[in-house]
Amino acid sequence: MNIKFKKLNKTIVKCKKCPRLTNFIKKISLEKRKQNFNEKYWGKPVTGFGDVNARLMIIGLAPAAHGGTRTGRAFTGDKSGNFLFKSLFSVKISNQAFSENKDDGLKLKSTYITNILKCVPPGDKPMNKELSQCSNYFIKEIDYLKKNKSDCNTR
Ligand code: SF4
Repeated sequence: MNIKFKKLNKTIVKCKKCPRLTNFIKKISLEKRKQNFNEKYWGKPVTGFGDVNARLMIIGLAPAAHGGTRTGRAFTGDKSGNFLFKSLFSVKISNQAFSENKDDGLKLKSTYITNILKCVPPGDKPMNKELSQCSNYFIKEIDYLKKNKSDCNTR
């Protein structure tokens, strides 16, 4: 992770620009799901992750309530992640066929994974102003990846 992404991700994790979503994350993280009751939920916005020199970007709408919001990593700890990482492993994009938590050793080759919205919305339905607010982060991610790519090509 380079310095620009580190700075951006630090800002995202602390972001509380959408009170409805910040409160919803808090509620989920306190109430928890039955099978994860003994776990401490991440309970904050979820950043993108992967190879900052990526040629491929995989985009979701938002973290899952008991997936990314619980584990702190996009597409991690839920059914869509299970499917995604089996597929990525089969084409040698990821070094393992599962994504369970931030410390599970997962590495991605030339691929960056993120969500447009960094906080889970109630009913998976974001409001327009939330999407528009958060898309500023998403646009920065795209810009940084493009910039890294062009830096690599001119080396
Ligand atoms: S959705 Fe995005 S802009 Fe809104 S609080 Fe979460 S990180 Fe901030």
